[in-house]
Amino acid sequence: MINRFKIGIGYDIHRLEENRDLIIGGVKIPYEKGLLGHSDADVLIHAIIDALLGAAGMPDIGTIFPDTDEKFKDANSIELLKNVYSKIKDKGYKINNIDSNIIAQAPKMMKYIPIMKDVLANILELELEDISIKAKTKEHLDSVGELKAIEAQAVVMLYQ
Ligand code: ZN
Repeated sequence: MINRFKIGIGYDIHRLEENRDLIIGGVKIPYEKGLLGHSDADVLIHAIIDALLGAAGMPDIGTIFPDTDEKFKDANSIELLKNVYSKIKDKGYKINNIDSNIIAQAPKMMKYIPIMKDVLANILELELEDISIKAKTKEHLDSVGELKAIEAQAVVMLYQ
């Protein structure tokens, strides 16, 4: 019997810069720029991590993996996600579903989304239909629309 649902929201943005790999949802996407950050700057994974932590009532990603800690320099965000998922499980939570948005003017995300879903389903022990990743643009508006940044949003539902 399901006793309790808990919902969490996550948001992230990273600046697009030259000489960086573009890694989103654990997938390396060919593009002339990549996201800048202390870790690999995987904007989607970071939004999902914050949504998981929020739902579980835990401190946010910046508190758990501080960017002042050299240990997390160029960290693989997939490893951070695995770490957070094990913390969530330790607290007795399971993930019901995840919905998310990647907001990028370029490059096109569509063909990489099925691969991202496979990556997430494997790590988070979910069925593909319990993971949604949608690709949006910003209609050329604001920093994302001007190709200066990429954003992601995620909501997750946990249950005990
Ligand atoms: Zn981030």
